[in-house]
Amino acid sequence: MKRKKKINIAIDGYSSTGKSTLAKDIAKALNYIYIDTGAMYRAVTLFALENKFIGKNFFDKEKLIRALDRIDISFKHNSKTGKSETYLNGKNVEKQIRDMHVSEYVSQVAEIPEVREKLVKLQQKIARQKGVVMDGRDIGTVVMPDAELKIFMTASPEIRARRRWEELKQKGMNIPYEQVKENVVHRDHIDTTRKHSPLTRTKDAILIDNTHLSREEQLEKVLQLVENLTTTE
Ligand code: C5P
Repeated sequence: MKRKKKINIAIDGYSSTGKSTLAKDIAKALNYIYIDTGAMYRAVTLFALENKFIGKNFFDKEKLIRALDRIDISFKHNSKTGKSETYLNGKNVEKQIRDMHVSEYVSQVAEIPEVREKLVKLQQKIARQKGVVMDGRDIGTVVMPDAELKIFMTASPEIRARRRWEELKQKGMNIPYEQVKENVVHRDHIDTTRKHSPLTRTKDAILIDNTHLSREEQLEKVLQLVENLTTTE
């Protein structure tokens, strides 16, 4: 008799590689829980912007660190859209956190060790229940180093910027393509060179370069890997 055990899946990679799309597809196919850790860093950034702790050419890190206890982040399922949405101190901020304005500052906020400690703790608490797909930059290295399956995603910067540009356009945000590309490349730089938990590929992570892969092809590839890991006699 074949039996399925639940595993944890860590997805890391560069900005706009489609990590969340793949993670959501996997969660749906396997009936797992999906956690978007980027949304958490974005929510903290929105809080910092709203409280004027960060802005053009200034960042009062100490004020943000002192205010961290006042930040509550949660996810709620929207039964109309069938999607999970991000809440900051009880307010739905799903749309706002995807704004280009937030994208411009999020990597600076994510560099702060105290911010990371707070969010990692929350993410690890969720991961304990198993059957979790989590995407971000430090999932396989810090948040779930013992995840049974680790995936590292990459694609050419041009393809990534185009995808992000199209996504923003669909949401009614008309940002020049060059600006989107600059942001993607800039975030990659900060994310890979920061001191605290930089984005790196662990030896046990499976590389997926999706420059030329369709959404279905990627999903199929991962589901096959999961099948091999979860089927026990
Ligand atoms: O995944 P997304 O692009 O929405 O993440 C936004 C930013 O949050 C990233 O560019 C990165 O700076 C930060 N991040 C992080 N660690 C994670 C997830 C996101 O540093 N686990």
